[in-house]
Amino acid sequence: MIQAKGIHKYFDQLHVLKGVNISIKQGEIIAIVGASGAGKTTLLQILGTLEKPSNDNGTELTIDGENVLNMNDKQLSKFRNLKLGFIFQFHQLLPEFTALENVCIPAFIAGKTKLEAEEEAIKLLNYLGLSHRMDHKPGELSGGEQQRVAVARALINKPAVIFADEPSGNLDTTSAENLHELFFKLRDEFGQTFVIVTHNETLANMADRKLVMKDGLFDQNSGWIDNASLPNATV
Ligand code: ATP
Repeated sequence: MIQAKGIHKYFDQLHVLKGVNISIKQGEIIAIVGASGAGKTTLLQILGTLEKPSNDNGTELTIDGENVLNMNDKQLSKFRNLKLGFIFQFHQLLPEFTALENVCIPAFIAGKTKLEAEEEAIKLLNYLGLSHRMDHKPGELSGGEQQRVAVARALINKPAVIFADEPSGNLDTTSAENLHELFFKLRDEFGQTFVIVTHNETLANMADRKLVMKDGLFDQNSGWIDNASLPNATV
């Protein structure tokens, strides 16, 4: 589903990613862990096409068979909206819209009618146990409820891949556990791929693979396996 090879990132003189290789299969749940500043969020942003890698000969990034490094901004934005979903610690819900409206927005952008979008959004919100809260605005919802709205919004266009950055970072233990269970349930039912940056050990240990980042590369001693089918990969 995702093939990345030779991903470098510099912020001025700071060499944050030092040639990361990774291959992720459809339906895998990947946890990226590691010390603060190791480069986890930067890698997630690049894999999610929100940030570009620094130019380097031999850098490759394909998602669902498409070379995203060759796309222009307009193509990327369309690709992102159709194929990728994002869940961040701070939900970035629009405060002036209800939960239902927030969830519908990506579907409108993808060209769905109001009726189609609402039908799908209501289905998702019901599934996430929010049927009684969908007409409320984010300010009237708990942190866990807001997070579930953000999950519904990330899922409405049935993205192939969900990128999550500290998705349970600001949730209480029970809400965090519910959210983690939900990821697995969704993967089992819809076959979605999850790439999750987390400091939550329980989630990291539940994942299909736990990849430890250290100084801009995956730590090979962490049980990381380069299954990227990249015979010339240098890690
Ligand atoms: P944390 O667990 O604390 O979130 P992380 O592993 O996700 O850390 P990153 O956020 O990827 O780390 O940051 C890696 C390094 O790159 C850090 O030293 C950070 O300060 C630096 N960095 C990240 N984004 C930028 C930016 N836009 N401009 C300059 N430096 C940046």
